[in-house]
Amino acid sequence: MYYNLAQLLREPTGSTRDYEVDDLFVGPEGGMDRAQGWVRVIRTHEGFIVRAELETQVNLTCSRCLDGFESQSDLIMEEESFPINDPKTDQTTESTEETLGEIHLDDQHILDMAEVVRQYVITAVPIKPLCCEECSGLCPECGANLNREKCKCDTASVDPRWGPLAALLTERRE
Ligand SMILES: [Zn+2]
Ligand SMILES: [Zn+2]
Repeated sequence: MYYNLAQLLREPTGSTRDYEVDDLFVGPEGGMDRAQGWVRVIRTHEGFIVRAELETQVNLTCSRCLDGFESQSDLIMEEESFPINDPKTDQTTESTEETLGEIHLDDQHILDMAEVVRQYVITAVPIKPLCCEECSGLCPECGANLNREKCKCDTASVDPRWGPLAALLTERRE
């Protein structure tokens, strides 16, 4: 997801580049996550606009049972930005971070979409991700994952007569 925009920045306003995306990026938990879709870059008077529609598959850890799970979400973005360097003169025309928002070009005019997507995904991920709404979490006594197994600890508030039914429901969910 690295796109060289040096040529585009020399072209007139309205020039575009389209990129198909099926790439990996470093996700919110540091692993490699996947993004698929498209990116369009449009030359503007001062810089460029990046439009993208991506479907991301991100690996997260459930905050309740600590299992890893995959979360899919759609990411639609439109960001405007300005080149760090003027490609005609190679002079730095903008000082960096504050004016650039989410979009960064390095001094080779490379658009690092992996970083942009990462920022978007981090913003979208809940503070306490859950593998599923009804995740049963871990047993506070023995640490067993209650989605997968029934431990023998005496912490269950469930009436034992309901045990078989609860087990049945658990099976159904899987
Ligand atoms: Zn969970
Ligand atoms: Zn237990």
